[in-house]
Amino acid sequence: MFEPGYIALYQSGELERRAETLEAQLGSCDICPRECGVNRLEGERGFCHSTYLPVVSAVCAHYGEEPVISGSRGAGAVFFGNCNMRCVYCQNYQISQGWARQQSKEMDSHTLTEGMLYSMDSHTLTEGMLYSMDFHTLAERLLYLQDELGCHNINFVSPSHFVPQLVRAVVEAVPMGLRLPLVYNTSGYDSIKSLRQLDGIINIYLPDLRYASDKWARKFSQAPDYVKHARAAIQEMYRQVGDLVLDEAGLAQRGLIVRHLILPNGLAGSQDSLTWLVSQVSPTVTVSIMSQYFPAHRASRISSLSRTISPSEYSEVVKLVDRLGLENGWLQEMGASENYLPDFTRQGHPFDSTVGNLR
Ligand code: SF4
Repeated sequence: MFEPGYIALYQSGELERRAETLEAQLGSCDICPRECGVNRLEGERGFCHSTYLPVVSAVCAHYGEEPVISGSRGAGAVFFGNCNMRCVYCQNYQISQGWARQQSKEMDSHTLTEGMLYSMDSHTLTEGMLYSMDFHTLAERLLYLQDELGCHNINFVSPSHFVPQLVRAVVEAVPMGLRLPLVYNTSGYDSIKSLRQLDGIINIYLPDLRYASDKWARKFSQAPDYVKHARAAIQEMYRQVGDLVLDEAGLAQRGLIVRHLILPNGLAGSQDSLTWLVSQVSPTVTVSIMSQYFPAHRASRISSLSRTISPSEYSEVVKLVDRLGLENGWLQEMGASENYLPDFTRQGHPFDSTVGNLR
């Protein structure tokens, strides 16, 4: 029977030590590559506008991830609020960029009633669903995803600015019975120092590789050094977990899956990024090529990003994948752009659960 590595780390006391090390970093925050140096323990806010309490914007079974992650019962998604990037086309902008609203919702478990929490996880969310939780409450939500919804994994979405909180929640959840694989679902703008603390804790890394040019990373995501940091992060992730390993049911147990979202007008630098992956990570790396780009958030007002990708842009990347010999992964079909748009104010579930998986 699968036993994730974080169980042994918990039993040896190492998981607690990792949590303490990461929490100490919050006193002069360098949890992500921005290294703001603010004291989040004292309520100061850096670029991500996040203090000590985790901001958890939605907890649900999510069926729109890659098939080895979503399976038949869904990925146990924990959507963190706020972000350490500012992508003008962010599909989750309601929770990633609406920091002022989220700050006003910061609270600990003592100010959330059980009824409110139960309502949230029963998919009966109403507008204004953005809640913060303390670690114990978050730990309880992980168990809810595992035991009541029967999800295949815990899928931490946009965790880069909440790494200490994530680890602390796992410390609390292990004695409560947590046994699922942990997925780190990230934009890729992660610090090596923080990732090293996750070695042996995270089972599946699911990073984006968004840009091959810092010019576009600066302009469209306010991340001027994205390429260097994302590439180093992906190499570290691969060092930790290696190639994708599936169980007998075809579900991911361990490994790296790199997502590459095709942007219009070649802005994602697909040729550079995929060539780099093959030569500097591994020709056997698993990739998920995504065609779902939609000009969400502010992108409709930016001419180079104001449309979905064209059939020729898509087929160029498909040919590139073939030319590079990338054999492991998924190619999302054209026409997926609107199917994958979440609405975090929708009553019920942020994603339309009738939408299928990637093939
Ligand atoms: S997580 Fe990153 S963006 Fe947020 S305060 Fe720390 S260094 Fe700054």
